[in-house]
Amino acid sequence: MILDMSLQELSEYIKNLGEPAYRAKQLFEACLLGKKLDEISNLPKSFKEKIEKDYPKFEVIAHLKSKDETQKVALKFPDGSIVESVLLKYKYGYTVCVSTQVGCRMGCSFCASTLNGLKRNLSAGEILAQVLFFNHILCCTLKKRQLTNVVLMGCGDPLDNFDNVTKFLKLVSCKDGLNISQRNISLSTCGIVPKIYQLADDGFSVTLTISLHASNDELRKKIMPVANAYKIEEILKACDYYFEKTGRRIAFEYSLIDGVNDSEKDIRQLASILKGRSCHVNLIPLNSVKEKSLIGVSRKRAYVLAAELEKLGISATVRRTMGEDIEGACGQLRNRVEKK
Ligand code: SAH
Repeated sequence: MILDMSLQELSEYIKNLGEPAYRAKQLFEACLLGKKLDEISNLPKSFKEKIEKDYPKFEVIAHLKSKDETQKVALKFPDGSIVESVLLKYKYGYTVCVSTQVGCRMGCSFCASTLNGLKRNLSAGEILAQVLFFNHILCCTLKKRQLTNVVLMGCGDPLDNFDNVTKFLKLVSCKDGLNISQRNISLSTCGIVPKIYQLADDGFSVTLTISLHASNDELRKKIMPVANAYKIEEILKACDYYFEKTGRRIAFEYSLIDGVNDSEKDIRQLASILKGRSCHVNLIPLNSVKEKSLIGVSRKRAYVLAAELEKLGISATVRRTMGEDIEGACGQLRNRVEKK
């Protein structure tokens, strides 16, 4: 698929088709602007016929808008896989939250994305398509865009699809393309330790976000199966390495589940394990997932716990919940495959 290609790879592809070199840039820009093939006016019909099979194809099967201006889209790819992505409006601009896999195999007990397991990885171009869909809606040109940030926080674990995700990071941040700086990209993982080292060693500098959700291994194992593979201590060591290499402050996500991980003792333990690190904690009152019996704490309770963390010297905020009414909030995106 053309969206999987860098400008250089696309130039090679065009050369192999025996077409003039300038077509590569024309095609690259048309794709990035999210145009359908029949909307591109500067390409001849004979050329379009040659590339038709490789041109990005997806169908918009749902496009929902929330009261708070959050938007959610469900895109269907030719194999019937459906992925969900979200557009969030902030004061400084727009953020797109993309999915990196169709479903997820991490099995976290509170998350809707993992309910039906993993169907497949998304390619770099399929992840990029989600960004381009919203960029197109916002009527942006390549040089002037309202879309400022990307978060890899939808369905799937980005580090479980390392090669495609890192290729996507290169494509979305490349100067010829959308040119979104890696500083404005957040990658969230449940903590696949060896891949955190690899991300740092490969020279990436995105903001690393760790879904911690517990301050000791015993509790973490109860709610996140990945905790059986990697201890919190190992995750924090990998984070220290990432910080040393990139100088980027690490963010920790902590979704507050009523009666499970929300006691003052849990929060004091969280402060003690993070003490001395350059990091920030996002507290998220758990969002409801209808298949799960777990419930979130009140926002009031979350603010009390954030203040407690601050008092203990850890920078903390309570994440605004956005798009809950369209099931577009954290943990509400789903693995959907078209029934044939
Ligand atoms: N798999 C990656 C990317 C998902 S990001 C990761 O684990 O980081 C989505 C974030 O929302 C993660 O921190 C995830 O643990 C959290 N989350 C999942 N279900 C949730 C829910 N029901 N309410 C609030 N947060 C949830």
